[in-house]
Amino acid sequence: MKDFDYIILGGGLSGLSLAYELNRQGCLANKTLCILEKRKEYTKDKNWSFWDFNNNKFENCEKKSWTKFSISANNQTALMECTKNPYRTIDSKKFYDFIIEDLSKNKNVSLVLGSEIITINASTVITQQGTYIGSFIFDSLLNNNLNSGLMYQHFYGCEIESEHDIFEEETVQLMDFNCEQINGMHFFYILPFSKKKALVETTWYSKNIKSLKEYQIEIDEYLLKKNIISKTNYTELGAIPLNLPPRKLSRSNYLKIGTAGNLTRMSTGYTFSAIQDYSEQLVKKLRLENIIEAPIVRKKKYTFLDSIFLSVIETDYKRMPDIFFNLFKKNSTQSTIKFLCDRSNFFEDIKIILSMPKVVFIKHFLIYLYKQLRNN
Ligand SMILES: Cc1cc2nc3c(=O)[nH]c(=O)nc-3n(C[C@H](O)[C@H](O)[C@H](O)COP(=O)(O)OP(=O)(O)OC[C@H]3O[C@@H](n4cnc5c(N)ncnc54)[C@H](O)[C@@H]3O)c2cc1C
Repeated sequence: MKDFDYIILGGGLSGLSLAYELNRQGCLANKTLCILEKRKEYTKDKNWSFWDFNNNKFENCEKKSWTKFSISANNQTALMECTKNPYRTIDSKKFYDFIIEDLSKNKNVSLVLGSEIITINASTVITQQGTYIGSFIFDSLLNNNLNSGLMYQHFYGCEIESEHDIFEEETVQLMDFNCEQINGMHFFYILPFSKKKALVETTWYSKNIKSLKEYQIEIDEYLLKKNIISKTNYTELGAIPLNLPPRKLSRSNYLKIGTAGNLTRMSTGYTFSAIQDYSEQLVKKLRLENIIEAPIVRKKKYTFLDSIFLSVIETDYKRMPDIFFNLFKKNSTQSTIKFLCDRSNFFEDIKIILSMPKVVFIKHFLIYLYKQLRNN
């Protein structure tokens, strides 16, 4: 049995971001931290992208950043500029290596790889390899029995390399809706790393996750349509639960973090920036008051508006290409980015709400109200 001041369950994005902040803000000068992670080694498994409001916090982990992005629907394309808040992509392997290197300089930190957590009982964490006791526990593990009725953003991406110059390297294709919308909202996403190299992703919002084969066929057909002949170097697969039930704070020494802590934005799947804000504020409170309290990094208005937005996506998904296209077309890019990144003000919110198709949203607002009343 091993005792620690802090235990982090899962050394993924939120676990390592929190550990980094604990170390950076001096909380580990005379306190101990243990990170329990089931994987045996870190490999590249994700590209994390986000509009940056944080002055490039992980500059050395960046793969590329852009100041332009586009949305296409109904054979029209809208081009947007985001010079103030560039769209950045972080390479997950560079991130893991950077944080682990940083933590390795502190003898009070233990990262235990290959340790699969079996149960958590109050302050005790039981893994296949041993038992750990922590004064404070931060848990990034998703519940294994996730409710099957959840909506997911699910996707498959391939980093492809072509012999010819085919990608517009200065512009991210955020959403290309020129594809079939069957049983869910569907678009393609392209991160162009150079004229010849890009991550091409087929992305869905629905309750039913597809098989790898289905996604591969979609990518092949998309590339064929665009006359892109390429070879694949790296692939990534994801299914992000969007409407997880709200976390419940049951104990004063235990806190859910990351996606498991409801940090994923329901309407977009973006989580990276919220995890950074959350880690910084959580550690600040812990350092000053020695308590753990979930910081509020996303106002309730976003959860409310996203619930309605997700309800529209779930049933009226065929309207989503127009809705997303108009969201950017009818509002200033800066306001829309702020809205999608939890940073918009009241006037920007109102303008964005008014740019939505009223009848559809009122219908889904009433559905939302009905569900709330039924659940209470
Ligand atoms: C492929 C992919 C791409 C994404 N891209 C973006 C993006 O571009 N922008 C964005 O904002 N968000 C993105 N997301 C969403 C989100 O940012 C990521 O899912 C992020 O990794 C969430 O961090 P986390 O710490 O909650 O989960 P994870 O990073 O998944 O960390 C959880 C950790 O717990 C470990 N673990 C699980 N079970 C156990 C167990 N029983 N015992 C011990 N360890 C365990 C896992 O191995 C993992 O390391 C993406 C998600 C995926 C899947």
